[in-house]
Amino acid sequence: MSESWKPETAAIHAAYDNKIGEGTMAVPIYQTTAYEFGSAETAANRFALRELGNIYSRLNNPTTGVLEGRFAEVEGGAAALATSSGAAAVFYAIANAAASGENILVANKIYGGTLSLTQHTLKRFGIEARIFDPQDTSTIEPLIDGKTRAIVFESISNPSIDIADVEPIVAIAKKHKILTIVDNTVATPYLFRPFDWGVDVSVHSLSKYTSGQGLGIGGIIVERPNLNDLLIGNPRYAHFNEPDPSYHGLVYAQLPFPLFTLRARLSLARDIGAIPQALTSWLFIQGLETLNLRIARHSESALAIAKWLKTHPKVKSVNYPLLEGDKNYGYAKKYLAGAASGLISFEVGDLEFAKKILNTTKIFSRVVNIGDSKSIITHSASTTHQQLTDAEQAACGITPGLVRLSIGLEASVDLIADLKQAIG
Ligand SMILES: *Cc1c(COP(=O)(O)O)cnc(C)c1O
Repeated sequence: MSESWKPETAAIHAAYDNKIGEGTMAVPIYQTTAYEFGSAETAANRFALRELGNIYSRLNNPTTGVLEGRFAEVEGGAAALATSSGAAAVFYAIANAAASGENILVANKIYGGTLSLTQHTLKRFGIEARIFDPQDTSTIEPLIDGKTRAIVFESISNPSIDIADVEPIVAIAKKHKILTIVDNTVATPYLFRPFDWGVDVSVHSLSKYTSGQGLGIGGIIVERPNLNDLLIGNPRYAHFNEPDPSYHGLVYAQLPFPLFTLRARLSLARDIGAIPQALTSWLFIQGLETLNLRIARHSESALAIAKWLKTHPKVKSVNYPLLEGDKNYGYAKKYLAGAASGLISFEVGDLEFAKKILNTTKIFSRVVNIGDSKSIITHSASTTHQQLTDAEQAACGITPGLVRLSIGLEASVDLIADLKQAIG
């Protein structure tokens, strides 16, 4: 790691040396399944981790490696593992911490896919998810027991746009020596610095702001520097400290590498295989180069549009963390780097009015995505959160009259004019 580089410099130069190989300025796309070992001994050494090197693209790939190295450095982490989707990143991070018979604590305001993963799919795997309020951290400690393996929350939650009160969450986790996992997709490493606040692991959907143009699905897990200190000798994480029978008795704790992502790679990516293709990793490398400029612009436009929406007589309420009076304002000021990303939601009272707005916008696309250069309008209750029960929807802050916007990179005056004609 080049400790001295600012994130925006790392985003362009880290983890790739254009003076080796063909000297290409752009990172090469190593679209390959496998790698020549050169000798039987090298092959054996790589499998035994006596020598690090390429083995097979389910485990590592040089193009994906640049994405992983760069993203880790941009976020100030020690190492990263890229995955085939944000959903896979969330799954790997949790599955790397907890097993059947154990439990995790999950924030109540969370991405719909993470909610169904933790409440339903993981339940079938014997992992219990206990729900806490990330803004009322007195709800956390009563849920913790000897089987708790992770505390999972979102820095800026999608779609409810709430900001977690990170400092007390991390303090409680540290007291009980439990891993904290933050989904930092909406904030990106530029608006929220998870490791500066002591969070252990971050996960991202790269499909959103990192891609920046809605070009592909991917995710990443990043671990903080020195996370090994929490894992080694910690009875909560016996699987890092005892011989792994799936890896001929390997004891992760004895290895001199960032262990969380190493185990996620050697065990979970090996066995589950949800890894990105080199071409998709390359798209995310392009997006990462300009992420800092884009997230600033998304945020600036979103604030202007949120302020305008707030003055509209037909809009009952507006959620945007940096709007004065927003219930997240204090947290936004405390935790975010002066900007609050591109998501806004607003309440118009009923389903019919919400539908009319969706059907009459001209610039906004009716798409279930966020973080695109193109502005997006979504009705969460009938789409992204349709599979949830009414109670689960309410818990995520979703109502029939709620409209969500992902503000793109168009001129904000044009977006306001479009919303004006749609709302009427
Ligand atoms: C989109 C999203 C995910 C899932 O990511 P995919 O790349 O779509 O699998 C997870 N968390 C958050 C906060 C998201 O916005």
